[in-house]
Amino acid sequence: MKIGFIGLGAMGYPMARHLSKEHEVIVWNRTREKAERHAKEHGTTLANELTDVENAEVIITMLPTSKEVDEIVDKLLSHVKPGTLWIDATSGDPNVSRETAKRLAEKNVPFVDAPVTGAIVGAENATLTIMLGGSAENVERSKEVLRLNGKTLIHVGDVGAGHAIKVLTNSIMGATVWITSECLLLAKQLGIDMKTALEVTNAGSGRSNASENLLPMRLRDHKWPLVFKLAHHDKDIRIAASLSHQLHGSTPMLALTQQLFSGALHQLGDQADYIEVAKIVATMNGESWE
Ligand code: NDP
Repeated sequence: MKIGFIGLGAMGYPMARHLSKEHEVIVWNRTREKAERHAKEHGTTLANELTDVENAEVIITMLPTSKEVDEIVDKLLSHVKPGTLWIDATSGDPNVSRETAKRLAEKNVPFVDAPVTGAIVGAENATLTIMLGGSAENVERSKEVLRLNGKTLIHVGDVGAGHAIKVLTNSIMGATVWITSECLLLAKQLGIDMKTALEVTNAGSGRSNASENLLPMRLRDHKWPLVFKLAHHDKDIRIAASLSHQLHGSTPMLALTQQLFSGALHQLGDQADYIEVAKIVATMNGESWE
C-alpha cells in the first residue's frame, strides 16, 4: 500500500520506519533534511513537495497540534483523491478534528483520529497504544496499517473520540506527576531518602506510572532527558479543560492541573520535558532535587 507520512518528529520518525517494512511510504517533513535522512536510512520515498503524497491510499499526519494538521489539510484538500483514508495520529482537539473530517468528507476522504500513547520508546519498539475515532469501517482500515506501530488498538467511538480520550488520559498523568512530586519532596524534606520514599510508594497505594517509571530517573538518579515536550503535555491538558468547560463541567482538579502546567511551561520554556514540572514543585518550596 502507498502511505504518505507527514511529520517526522520524535514520534513520526520511528512510526514511518515501521510502516515502511510492509508499505511504500512517502515521507514529508517541514524541515526537509529529516525526510532526506529518513529516505536514506529506511528506504522510504522523499516527497519533494507536500503534494507528492496525493496518490497515497492512506495519509498519516503526526504533528504538534490540530492547527498544523488543519494547515496541511488546507494545502492538500484540492489534491487528495476520493477514497484516500486520512489518519491523524496527532494528539489533537476533538472539536477541530470533527470539522476537519467534515471538510475532507466533502472530497470523499474519510478521517480517523488515532492518537497514540507509549512515548518515544513505544514508537521505537512499535508497542504504542492507539485510540481510534471514526466509523467501524474506517477504523478497521486504519488498524490494518497501524498494527505495525502498536500492540493495543482500541476503537473508542466516532471521529474525535480518540482525541478526547487521549487528552483526558494525559491529564490524569499530569495531575499524578504533580501530586507525586509534591509528596516526594515533602518526604525528602522530612529526611527520608528518595530511594526509600520511592520504594515505599511503589510497594503501596501511592503507586502509579509516575512513581514507577517517570519520576525515579529524575528525582533519584538526577537524569532529565527530553522525551515528551511539556508544551505538548500542556496543550493536551488545555484541550481537556476546554472540553470540560464546553460541557459546563465542575472539574476543579483538572482546572488546577491545567493552571499549574501552563504556569510551569511559562517558566521552563518550549523545549522543556514534561517531567520538569517536578522542578517547579521544588522551586515553589525553595528546594531542589539535588
Ligand atoms: P515533535 O515536536 O518531535 O515533532 C513535531 C513534528 O511536527 C515535526 O516533524 C515538525 O517538523 C512538525 N511540525 C511542527 N510545526 C509544523 C508546521 N507548522 N507545519 C508542518 N510541520 C510542522 O513532536 P512529537 O513527535 O513528540 O509529537 C507529535 C504529536 O504526538 C504531538 O501531538 C504530541 O502531543 C503527540 N505525542 C508525543 C509523544 C512523545 O512522547 N513525544 C507521546 C504521545 C503522543 P520539523 O522537523 O520541521 O520541526
